[in-house]
Amino acid sequence: MSNKKLRIIPLGGLGEVGKNMMVYEYGDNILVVDTGIMFPENDMLGIDYIIPDFNYLLDKRHLVRGIVITHGHEDHTGAIRHVLDEINAPIYATPLTRGLLEVKLARGGLREKAVLNTVQAGEQAQIGPFRVEFFHVCHSIPDGVGLGITTPAGLVIHSGDYKFDHTPVDNWPTDYAKLGEFSGRGVLALLSDSTNADKPGWTPSERVIDPAFDQVFDSAPGRIIIASFASLISRMQQVANAARRHGRKMAFVGTSMVENARMARKLGYLNIQDDLVVGVEQALKMKPGEVVLMSTGTQGEPSSIMGRLSTGTNRHFDIIPGDTVVLSSHPIPGNEESVHRTINRLFRRGANVIYEPIAPVHVSGHASQEEMKLLLHLVKPKYFIPIHGELRHLRQHALLAAEVGIAEENITVIENGQVIEFEGGRMSLGERVPGGYVFVDGSGVGDVGPSVVREREALARDGIVVISLMLEKSTGCLREEPEIITRGFVYKRDAEDLLAIARRRITETVTRGNGNLQNDVEQTIKAFFYNETKRRPTVFVTINRV
Ligand SMILES: [Zn+2]
Ligand SMILES: [Zn+2]
Repeated sequence: MSNKKLRIIPLGGLGEVGKNMMVYEYGDNILVVDTGIMFPENDMLGIDYIIPDFNYLLDKRHLVRGIVITHGHEDHTGAIRHVLDEINAPIYATPLTRGLLEVKLARGGLREKAVLNTVQAGEQAQIGPFRVEFFHVCHSIPDGVGLGITTPAGLVIHSGDYKFDHTPVDNWPTDYAKLGEFSGRGVLALLSDSTNADKPGWTPSERVIDPAFDQVFDSAPGRIIIASFASLISRMQQVANAARRHGRKMAFVGTSMVENARMARKLGYLNIQDDLVVGVEQALKMKPGEVVLMSTGTQGEPSSIMGRLSTGTNRHFDIIPGDTVVLSSHPIPGNEESVHRTINRLFRRGANVIYEPIAPVHVSGHASQEEMKLLLHLVKPKYFIPIHGELRHLRQHALLAAEVGIAEENITVIENGQVIEFEGGRMSLGERVPGGYVFVDGSGVGDVGPSVVREREALARDGIVVISLMLEKSTGCLREEPEIITRGFVYKRDAEDLLAIARRRITETVTRGNGNLQNDVEQTIKAFFYNETKRRPTVFVTINRV
């Protein structure tokens, strides 16, 4: 019976911005759409990135018929290696997206194992019982697609990231005709991008950046350093165009920037004449007014090129007075603080820094409210499920859908892990499956759980106290005063009294000599420090019996 249901299972991207991953399931067949990552927030210490929890798929890995990737951004592609480690299924992507996936898979040594199918916007592929039609959408990277997925239960439209830009950098607007055609066939459900659901009006065209760049190039006295994401291919094109107009040479800095640019040029998505591009070494030898460098690191990450430049710890070159730094991107929510810190440091090192509120050097790649309404009108779905966004974005998007006439009972706001089922043309809520975070840090995947991150937070916030006790083996009495070492908890010189009382409390506890001495001392000291300081340092007790 359950075989006649279409099940939609969001594993990432609903209730958060990033790590997008959606599962479509019909009978014994699964189609996965996107495998993204999310960057950690400031307080997730030592975490490199976060991938979706796709435990749901592990028991059903043999049922996965295909993985479709809508476009080449990290929040849609970044977890592909982790997914392919567990699941052996063919990948479907447009040429540029495929190229960027190949760069990623080569680094993980998975290029040979992966089965990659190239599809073009306008084409379709039969993946198990799912007939997937790929339609072009504008976004801040070329070759993005949305999906029309014909299932035995009906036609579902999955927008991917999109905007309705009439003058995109690559002159390739969203495929409005296809959207209209879908509605003619009758659309069971629309799942569409909510990232900008709280932004009224229309998202400006990418073209508005060109005059802003012209102004920067006109007035910059020395080098221009433009920071962006390595996957913002259309921004690379705009920088190249500006460089040509203003007679500067262009250099790409950083591995991912260099590799992505090479791949996009090879595939024809980045149109840059050979004589415009120079290597970094050569760029650094040229007169400052003759070059523009393009690098990553717009999010204030300390280890990125821009982060290192801001602290004077970059290996190849430094900021010099007269440099103009352009941050051509928007801080990902949660990164604002570190981005601002980086901007301040760059100013301090003598650079002029230009960033979004100062000049329109970045526009969003996501639809705003009027575009969302237009998509709803074009597609005319029976049911609507907002995707890609924090809960506030999903709710706003749901309100917009109601405003344009989708029946309220046909709109569902759900978060990761909540299963939706369609049967006989009706939507209902299914069970909940895991849909949380899997942390990836230097040591591996999932070794670090939320509890480890909480411990790191506690260490960073309240510091650490190590207590070592030397006991007489025969009597259990202290041989010498308890030793207390603190780090990041109190300034020792100011805390002599506090630590003296702590030593006395420890001595009393030892003298009382209960069963579990280690635990007793730990609990006593934690309670004591909390009473005195309202802080909860991490306490370690070591006992030597001699
Ligand atoms: Zn995107
Ligand atoms: Zn996205």
